[in-house]
Amino acid sequence: MTTLDDWTRLAREISPRTEVFIDGKYRTAASGATFDSINPASGELIARVSSADAEDVDAAVRSARAAFDSGVWSATSAAHRKRVLQRLAELITEHSAELALLDSLDMGKLVVEAHTVDVPSAADLFAFYGEALDKIHGEIAPTEPGNLALVSREPLGVIGAVTPWNFPLDLAVWKVAPALAAGNSVVLKPAEQAPLSSIRLAELAVEAGLPEGVLNVVPGLGHTAGQALGLHPDVDVIAFTGSTETGKRFLRYAADSNAKQVWLECGGKSPNVVFADADLDAAVDKAIFGAFYNQGAVCSSNSRLLLDETIAEEFLTELVSRSAAITPGDPLDPASTMGALVDEEHTRRVMGFIDRARHDGEILAGGTRETVSGRGCFVAPTIVAKLDPRAELITDEVFGPVLAVQTFADEQQAVAMANDTVYGLAASVWTRDLSRAHRISAALRAGTVSVNTVDALSAQTPFGGFKQSGFGRDLSLHALDKYTGLKTTWIAL
Ligand code: NAD
Repeated sequence: MTTLDDWTRLAREISPRTEVFIDGKYRTAASGATFDSINPASGELIARVSSADAEDVDAAVRSARAAFDSGVWSATSAAHRKRVLQRLAELITEHSAELALLDSLDMGKLVVEAHTVDVPSAADLFAFYGEALDKIHGEIAPTEPGNLALVSREPLGVIGAVTPWNFPLDLAVWKVAPALAAGNSVVLKPAEQAPLSSIRLAELAVEAGLPEGVLNVVPGLGHTAGQALGLHPDVDVIAFTGSTETGKRFLRYAADSNAKQVWLECGGKSPNVVFADADLDAAVDKAIFGAFYNQGAVCSSNSRLLLDETIAEEFLTELVSRSAAITPGDPLDPASTMGALVDEEHTRRVMGFIDRARHDGEILAGGTRETVSGRGCFVAPTIVAKLDPRAELITDEVFGPVLAVQTFADEQQAVAMANDTVYGLAASVWTRDLSRAHRISAALRAGTVSVNTVDALSAQTPFGGFKQSGFGRDLSLHALDKYTGLKTTWIAL
């Protein structure tokens, strides 16, 4: 798959599955309702997707519970679960073009990025957790003689995974892979803007040998399917990725139902702090990547650029000049450098931020809504400076290709400005001074601090936020903490 023609041909050939997936089978939603999946790059209808509501969610949870209680997955050997998850990793790789295309058509991202980044990451995560699960042991606690205290990790039961649209397949797998590895059953509620790859994932999981009912998928709207899952009395854990506003709703749902555990991966407004002694050439390139990758729809997007005032002018000249190389294009064209925004509503929201910024600050680049072949939801990469610290572009998450620039006079001011946010997901620091790198990293309140790069993450390192960016960690072995409970078995010998 290397050319626009290849991807266009495949796009014509595939017919995505669109139904609810329960008990290993596709079925239409009980109500018969559907919602439209629209390609934001063209405005064309891709599919009508079954819209699950409370009745379907209940059926999915009952299926997941029955599978869990039967032990058909939860009580199997670690070696068996490892083989299934590793086979699923292989199947994802074998279907990588199809899965990448589903995400690109559904939400407008560049198909090449989906194919080379998102899908390989999803496959790697199943392989990673499959490989890990037979290497995690319980403990024997030191007790008084005559006693034996065993501490084991138990799967928690039914996990409700609720995911966003920006990396549809990959972020679903961030939840599903560790939850399954630990022996749980899962009900996955993908974002209504991009559900197609999650629906297909469930089918591939069964093909890999996952017993029916262990992974169910309920495509549907937030306030129907999402709410029903959050309120369901037989869901043990909600693992959520999405906006802080919706995350708070899940805390309320838990309080109003069965006090289920809730883990939140929410929004961000991450600062990228550049000191005068940094490698400025690399910092310019990464500032562009950090702000505009995936059309800026990245939770840890470096959407605030904080520049040492002594280098600000020179840095901005270079930044504006190099960012001109990024222009919205057909997401299926391997030559394109930026894709489409997820839908019309989100595009209007992003343009609203930009239009108001014309009064709040100075637009240095972009600022326009674009079309490709006369259609679609595209926005030019936009850079805004001279903003008041209380301007909404400094405080609010845009989740689009909009970079807000600020300047600082010294280290103390840089840290104060960087931390002046309700979020705490990620931050970046650029300096050649090792002591300063440590000093600033320690002072920044963020789940991940990247030094002399942006947005660093891997399967092996935990990812998640401080403050209103959430709690609990995805990725790495630490993610298993969310999907297991510690059990003490005390034996008086
Ligand atoms: P969103 O909060 O609108 O939706 C996320 C999920 O919640 C979707 O599945 C949606 O259907 C569901 N939902 C929406 N309203 C609901 C309700 N009333 N009740 C129950 N469920 C509901 O977020 P989004 O627009 O899909 O994604 C963008 C957000 O996700 C951004 O804030 C971004 O920062 C965040 N995000 C965070 C991370 C992270 O790892 N921290 C990663 C990616 C995205």
